[in-house]
Amino acid sequence: MKLKTKLSLGISFLFVVILTFGILSVFYINRLSSQSGQVLKNNHESLVYSNNMLKALEEIPANTDAKKIFEVNLQKQEANITEPGEKEATTTLRKNFNELISTPLDSGNYVEIRQSIQSINDLNQQAILRKNDAARKTAEDANLWLTIIFSVLIIITFTFVINFPSVISNPIRVLNNGISEIANKNYHKRIHLDKGDEFGELAQAFNSMAEKLDEYENSNMAKLQFEKSRIETIINQMKDGIIGLDVKKNILFLNAVAEKLLGLKESEIIGQYAADVALRNDLMRNLLQTGVQKELKIFADNKESYFNKDILDVTSKEQVIGQVIVLRNITPFHELNEAKTNFIATVSHELKTPISSIKMSATLLDDPRIGALNEEQSGLVKSIYDDSDRLLKITGELLNMSQVETGKIELKLQPSDPVSIVEMALESVQFSLQQKQINLQKHLADKLPLVYADMEKTSWVLINFLTNAIQYSPVKGNIEVSVRCINKVVQFSVKDDGKGIEEKYLPRIFDRYFKVPGSSKSGTGLGLAISREFIEAQGGSIHAESELGSGSRFFFELN
Ligand code: ADP
Repeated sequence: MKLKTKLSLGISFLFVVILTFGILSVFYINRLSSQSGQVLKNNHESLVYSNNMLKALEEIPANTDAKKIFEVNLQKQEANITEPGEKEATTTLRKNFNELISTPLDSGNYVEIRQSIQSINDLNQQAILRKNDAARKTAEDANLWLTIIFSVLIIITFTFVINFPSVISNPIRVLNNGISEIANKNYHKRIHLDKGDEFGELAQAFNSMAEKLDEYENSNMAKLQFEKSRIETIINQMKDGIIGLDVKKNILFLNAVAEKLLGLKESEIIGQYAADVALRNDLMRNLLQTGVQKELKIFADNKESYFNKDILDVTSKEQVIGQVIVLRNITPFHELNEAKTNFIATVSHELKTPISSIKMSATLLDDPRIGALNEEQSGLVKSIYDDSDRLLKITGELLNMSQVETGKIELKLQPSDPVSIVEMALESVQFSLQQKQINLQKHLADKLPLVYADMEKTSWVLINFLTNAIQYSPVKGNIEVSVRCINKVVQFSVKDDGKGIEEKYLPRIFDRYFKVPGSSKSGTGLGLAISREFIEAQGGSIHAESELGSGSRFFFELN
């Protein structure tokens, strides 16, 4: 049965109950009122007529109108005969009254008339009592029947009220449970409502939906499983160590290389909080530290190996859902780099002596005591001298760089006078300054404290600053060398009004082999990189400020 039909039937049933009770109540009330009305209408009127006739009878001898009143009431009584025996009594009354009219002095008539009126009175009073009894009985019947019907209807309605809501609420509860199960991804859930109503149809629709979801889930699970195995295979085949963390930094996975490097099995630490693992594993502690030590030296494959640490965020819908730590094995690059550094160091070292002797020979050749040269020869000797000088600078820088790269910077740290360092540097560039007619200004503060530094390497840095400043300044340009003490730190600075450096290149200016695009072709791009290594090795810091077209200021601080 359809739900709509059930609801209509339920409401109709309640309607019938109310209607039945109403009809019964109206029926009994009407019956009672008609019975009481009857009493008033017939019997009460007869009593009134009788009383009027008795009063008129008293006055008949004296009052002639009394006969008329008697006659009128007698006629009304004759028209209002309702009780058995009342007709006979009224007929007797009429006969006696007629005799009284014809023989007024017969007093016997008065007695008989009174008796007749009395008997009419009695009949009607008895009828009133009887009808009263009947009305009371009807009221009692009505009370009884209405109580019985009311009780029956109350029982039926109560049963109906108790049971009917469950016709709707039970299937809704079953459906609700089913939906909750589906929401919890239990796609095996089915609903069985053996009903031919809308709920039955809903249950069928629910079951086919669950079936489709089940199929979808199974096919998706298979796909996911396949993708998972594929990615696991790829990750495990990789030469890099890979560790996956969820957003709460719990370990999700690690590949074979990571297992080997950490010395831990995936099954031992999976699901564990990475920081807890780091408490008992140094490498893990290193890996979790962000921002420090990008390159790690780890003993692996029976040798010292180098790994580059990269922490990548895993995102989904622009939200970070985890991290992958990649340990890239850069040992082969390291080995190649080492070979390159060794090669450069050897070559520059081997070249230094012959170049120095070429430079010496060129100086001697230019000496008039050895023999006069013509102008052209003198020019050629000069260019041999200049080139060998440049070659010496380059081999010197390459040697320094190889020292830096192999971590073999030998520092002779001692308390040094900052002014002496400046003078030492200026002396080296004196010739170039004069050649380019540079206007040099020195600002050396009084009473400068001694700095704990390697004089040679520090003045090398200043020379590099000055050489660059001269190179990138126009002829007759201005260079300002200053030394001052700021908060117990001594600052050495070289400022020029040359072409300056574009802001975007400034962060890379101290990188190895970096040259600003379009700047002079000569030079290795190593000078500033070596300078930084020298200064930082002494515990100082190095900086550059520049504006394109307005010049540059390079400075370092030592204490
Ligand atoms: P290089 O030996 O080639 O001069 P550096 O490391 O000393 O190498 O300098 C790197 C680059 O920085 C240079 O190629 C040059 O473009 C730029 N540079 C350095 N000093 C100055 C300066 N005073 N003015 C403008 N550019 C400069």
